Amino acid sequence: MAMANVKMTCSECGKEYTVSVKHGSRKAADEFEAYIKSQAGQCPACYRKHQNEKRDSFRFKEAAEIREFDRKNGFPALEGSEKQEAWAVAIRHEAIVSINIFAMGKLYKGAEITAENAQDSAIGIKAFLCGEKSAKFFIDHRDESVQGWLDLISARMS
Ligand SMILES: [Zn+2]
Repeated sequence: MAMANVKMTCSECGKEYTVSVKHGSRKAADEFEAYIKSQAGQCPACYRKHQNEKRDSFRFKEAAEIREFDRKNGFPALEGSEKQEAWAVAIRHEAIVSINIFAMGKLYKGAEITAENAQDSAIGIKAFLCGEKSAKFFIDHRDESVQGWLDLISARMS
């Protein structure tokens, strides 16, 4: 394990911040450092502001857009009454968006993210969400926080 700690200057507000990421080897950490230094980055506060904007654009307003996203990405139709199903599909979509935004944001908190475990967890999350076919399940978990979803997922995976 090797840490990459990179001092960056926010491209937006000019504040200094540090990006810390754990890598499998010194070489990978150095490569990451060289790469991230060449990027224009934003401090956590500016990043969060942009994520919120991105999140709003990510979040489809129209049911038809969500259906299209689900179809393209292999998320199955849900079982339940027509009304339950439509509601549950929207809840699931919200969960997908929240979890993805959260996973991207973790990079900035110095969480232990490597290319491998990021991919593993993305696959795990998707497998979990695709495996739940009951509309009732999503409706029951409509108030779940991102951490709540991740806890459910890791409980299922272990
Ligand atoms: Zn900033």
